[in-house]
Amino acid sequence: MKRAIFCLALLVSGLATATTGGGKALPSMTHPSWVRAYDRASEAVAKQDFNKALAFLNGGIYDKGVTISLDTSSCPGQVDKVSAAAKRALAAWKKVLGTDCPVRLLPNDAQADLSLTVVKSIPQEGDALGLIELKKSYAWSAGSYRHSSSGKINILTSYEGSKLDDDELTEVICHEMGHLLGLADLDHTGFLMGPLVRHESVVGPTQEEGRAVIAIRQRFREMIDDIHQTARRSA
Ligand SMILES: [Zn+2]
Repeated sequence: MKRAIFCLALLVSGLATATTGGGKALPSMTHPSWVRAYDRASEAVAKQDFNKALAFLNGGIYDKGVTISLDTSSCPGQVDKVSAAAKRALAAWKKVLGTDCPVRLLPNDAQADLSLTVVKSIPQEGDALGLIELKKSYAWSAGSYRHSSSGKINILTSYEGSKLDDDELTEVICHEMGHLLGLADLDHTGFLMGPLVRHESVVGPTQEEGRAVIAIRQRFREMIDDIHQTARRSA
């Protein structure tokens, strides 16, 4: 039997490439963009530029949540199928993260941080079934900071004329949510963040992947707590 394997890609704009150094080690599954954000936060803490650090750290964990809504104009006739897959994908992450899951699905076509969009082909990627284009921006001053995330989750609902089944569609969306939460792609199959193998769907994070996201969020939070403690001490 032919096993078609697809890559699910992530594009993050607004961040430079990863560097090493600073802070405690993040899980090896962490996306380079999150490593870079964590490094920039560590560097900022070392220079006592706390608002800069807080912008990167809170942007990494989405302290105010991050919202997604389905663009129904992109998938006429498939709205129910894609909505249901998105709900299952989010439920799989909520199962692992519980109330700490920052991702929220808004009603279809609502104004959200990211739009879930069905496309006919994935831009710039050959064999991909999904691609998240995530733009993060950060701003800070002596008195305040802010961050925002926006973009688009592009997904295919069929490949070479063959429709993805419900589990495959759930995997594609759940995988892109994994990127949104800070995970990198993996090379091996059998993982949510690995290549998708048709008819052998991984419809939620493995225990290891779930633990990695929990650990990333913990590391970011520890640094946020340290900053607040330092600020209290110097107040
Ligand atoms: Zn991917």
